[in-house]
Amino acid sequence: MGVNEKIAILVSDFLKEIGEDLERDGLKETPLRVSKMIEELFSGLREPKFSDFKTFESETTGELVWVTQIPFYSVCEHHLLPFFGDVSIGYIPAENRTLGLSKFLRLVEYWSKRPSIQEGLTTTICKELTENIPNNGVGVVIKARHLCMEMRGVRSANAITKTESFSGILKTDFERRKEFFERM
Ligand SMILES: [Zn+2]
Repeated sequence: MGVNEKIAILVSDFLKEIGEDLERDGLKETPLRVSKMIEELFSGLREPKFSDFKTFESETTGELVWVTQIPFYSVCEHHLLPFFGDVSIGYIPAENRTLGLSKFLRLVEYWSKRPSIQEGLTTTICKELTENIPNNGVGVVIKARHLCMEMRGVRSANAITKTESFSGILKTDFERRKEFFERM
């Protein structure tokens, strides 16, 4: 039995337990549909670890390079409900090398397609960039809405949670970090 079929059975059991009628027309295809969707939402767990950090030659001057407002969608590991928003990354290139835009998008995508928490996602993206591209500092800011906060509990509709992670000069040099936030 494939992963999809196994998950479809679990989804059927789940629906039964919450009191749904599995014979109802609207639900007939739901277990299989959900299992396929789950495969997509959590694809980062099964793919090989993202490692395509190929940089290219470019004249750099120690100035910040920005990639802002990369959209992302993830699922919180505490409630399995979506959280989503955007990731902004600023870094100080070194050795006259920079990373292409598409790599940032794919790095964010890879790490968000799994159950995660926003703080963890932020530090992981910062750490992966710090360790894999020539740089003198990396800063990552994620702004997100959490459906587990909006649909249940205190129902803080539209509240934005902001998390940050820094390395290198951006972690240690207050002036550079100020510049980071001014330009965000
Ligand atoms: Zn949650």
